[in-house]
Amino acid sequence: TSTNTPRLRFAPSPTGFLHIGAFRTALFSWLYARHSGGKFILRIEDTDLARTVEGAVEDFVNGLEWLGMDVDEGPVIGGPYGPYYQVQRKALYQQYANQLVEAGRAYHCYCTPERLDEMRKEQIANKLPPRYDRRCRYLTPEERAAHEDAGESWTVRFAMPLEGETVVHDMLHGDMVFKNTDLDDTVILKTNGLAPYHLAHLVDDHLMGITHVLRGEEWISSAPRHVQLYQALGWEPPLFYHVPNVLGKDKKKLSKRRNAPSWSDYKKEGYLPEAVFNFLAMLGWAYDDQTELFTKEELIKAFTLEKVGISSGIYDPDKLLWMNGVY
Ligand code: GLU
Repeated sequence: TSTNTPRLRFAPSPTGFLHIGAFRTALFSWLYARHSGGKFILRIEDTDLARTVEGAVEDFVNGLEWLGMDVDEGPVIGGPYGPYYQVQRKALYQQYANQLVEAGRAYHCYCTPERLDEMRKEQIANKLPPRYDRRCRYLTPEERAAHEDAGESWTVRFAMPLEGETVVHDMLHGDMVFKNTDLDDTVILKTNGLAPYHLAHLVDDHLMGITHVLRGEEWISSAPRHVQLYQALGWEPPLFYHVPNVLGKDKKKLSKRRNAPSWSDYKKEGYLPEAVFNFLAMLGWAYDDQTELFTKEELIKAFTLEKVGISSGIYDPDKLLWMNGVY
């Protein structure tokens, strides 16, 4: 992959059906890929087996199709690459987790779920942030050998630096500085051999040559851990855009339960996909302070990432109704 071809991804977890706000962020990635002659990749982040919901992947794929966002790589019928399902890539994450263990940047943790639970309860009771106490980080070689010989199961935890600061460069928020003492020794491989989001998404973003990561602001607090992982693996991080969430008229985050429909609700209610597409593009992006009606082609032409976050991104169903009437 040439480094100057933008590659963006939509990486939903099939742990539920997405409301329209998540598709909005994907739409920004898609628009930028199309604007820049780049690629748009669909990756299914399905390593959380216990929370996987039947039919979610189909819903993502059908939603993209209904909205008219074509996928270059991923679970796409007739597509040249993929499908990208993280459960099928688990050996890759194991390889990098092992590499980190061998380099002394990660360690096996033998703590039982019961111990971790106790610890968490105690920390909460004492108003401390819930964080692993790093007991297994400091095992002697003999103690470690004893755990291994006993055949105990383990997770792999990343050894965060114990002092200093981590700077997250964000294209929308600027540089954000985090104290390393606040960072947890994150689990990067679970006892079942699957990698949680923190490692899996990062390995994939790297191997798939992702250049721009657009994701919700709720990931900002995880970003310093990711920066540390990139450094430990010797990889260049992508450009981060932590995109402000779409808000309801009450200025609260949209949630499926409260006020946010899904793409299929719009379809059922007879909205035109072109109108919904236009409507979504205006939720957190603006061309100027007047123009609101754009065809898809006009949006592809006009869309730049510099203007993400300029408009307030307030979800106003009346505006959609209006746009739908115009189309
Ligand atoms: N799988 C994550 C989610 O569904 C994706 C976050 C990201 O885009 O990195 O929330």
